[in-house]
Amino acid sequence: MSFFSKLWNLKLHHKILLGLLLGAIFGATLNVSKYELEITHKEKDKEKSTIVNNWEKIEFADIQSRVVLQTFGKEDQLKLLNYFQSLDKSAKANLLMLATIRTTDRSGAVVTTRQYFENIKKIEKVKTIPIYIKPIGTIFIRLLMFIAIPLVLASLIVGASSLGNIKTVGKIGAKMITIYFILIAIAITIGLTLSNVIRPGERISEEAREKLLVEFAPNIQAKIQESVELNVINTIVNIVPTNPISALANAEMLQIVFFALVVGITLTAIRKEKSEPVIKFFDGFSDMMIKMVDYIMKIAPLGVFALIAATVSEFGFDILQTLFWYAATLIIGLLIHQFIVLGSMVKIFAGINPIKFFKGIREVMLIAFTSSSSAATLPVNMEKCEQNLGVPKKITSFVLPLGATINMDGTSMYQAVAAVFIAQVYGIELHITEQLIILLTALLASIGTAPVPGVGIIMLIIVLRSVNIPEEGIALILGVDRFLDMCRTVVNVSGDAAVATVIAKSEGVLGINSMKNENC
Ligand code: ASP
Repeated sequence: MSFFSKLWNLKLHHKILLGLLLGAIFGATLNVSKYELEITHKEKDKEKSTIVNNWEKIEFADIQSRVVLQTFGKEDQLKLLNYFQSLDKSAKANLLMLATIRTTDRSGAVVTTRQYFENIKKIEKVKTIPIYIKPIGTIFIRLLMFIAIPLVLASLIVGASSLGNIKTVGKIGAKMITIYFILIAIAITIGLTLSNVIRPGERISEEAREKLLVEFAPNIQAKIQESVELNVINTIVNIVPTNPISALANAEMLQIVFFALVVGITLTAIRKEKSEPVIKFFDGFSDMMIKMVDYIMKIAPLGVFALIAATVSEFGFDILQTLFWYAATLIIGLLIHQFIVLGSMVKIFAGINPIKFFKGIREVMLIAFTSSSSAATLPVNMEKCEQNLGVPKKITSFVLPLGATINMDGTSMYQAVAAVFIAQVYGIELHITEQLIILLTALLASIGTAPVPGVGIIMLIIVLRSVNIPEEGIALILGVDRFLDMCRTVVNVSGDAAVATVIAKSEGVLGINSMKNENC
């Protein structure tokens, strides 16, 4: 068998893993340089792009008076980009940029050259090939996202109609919410304990702290503005949609779940000859959607490759070094929760061997890692829980969409670790009451966190406010947030799958459906 046919015949999860590894290598090799800039400027009425690299210093001056406004050194790419972005149109029009470039010629002599730019339209980092192939990955994620909403609606209507009545739904719902809250509380406790023991905020130098605060300050304003107040009553009231169509259009998961539950339960209250065609329609529709997941997953290796390559190529590895202890604290916590807490939970309460459990959801974990989105991973999670873990559709369709919205073990642990880390950097002592407030707000914030990339950090602002930690502190952790988002999303979705198995077991329906275990 040739190398290519061997590759083609690999199992899907091996192909995805390969896509992930190759994407990471490709992205790291073609990392976006922090010593290069692409300047788009107008010259004789024509737009031109010039790449500037290895600058010794870059100065911005007023074009008329030639007074220097700002000077940036060779390590200041991010600061420079932020400065340019902060200028309005007229300020940009009056700007003169002067780059001093120092190189050595063949004889080893130092040569200094100067480049001038006027009429600057854009200043960007130089794009590398991984950035250009990113759209392939984005298409893959969008395909998964478009399945999520119709799939949840259809399968939950069928699921609720087979659950039968409000009492059963209420019983399962109460059980589910209780387990979700216990799991989140455990995750936060692990996060708080680790950050109090490791004390990552005290392991960061004064210089690094200043640098992070200055570099990322401009990026946090938008996030602070996006944050909302936490209002439990409003959250509960908002579960009831005024218009189910707009709930569907706006992907309001809790509202969609509510609507589907009401429809499903009410269908059991009307005559069978009326309800049966409706249920059959949604049943066929949801099976079709699950089949679609199969098709989409065929391009998963390529999608994962493109996404990881782009993410890694954009990632500044220096920052991982600076924030090593913070990232390590969270990752240790996530690993404990993922493998010890969830592993023992499925063993004790669902009677599933943890190895079998993690094998059953390995594609789910890989997609969560690459997409950083519980919502995009939801269709895959539903499919794998049904096929590989034997959780019936009526349970997955109820427990997983709600879990994707409510149960964010990884995100809430991250909020606890980040809050303590920022407090430690600012030298704020958090007493036990404050740590309890963090526990409570992170738990509630987890419900309010939308299952899409980067929302966890916005909800973190609420947690910080609750204990008076300066919200500007999120500038400290912004640089590694994308990477940690990938890690925490894996734990978020694994928690949902674990709860689905436990609920199915407690209802005596685990493994009743035919399990396709050939994939495991
Ligand atoms: N990306 C996370 C998720 O979708 C949410 C977050 O922590 O930002 O599960």
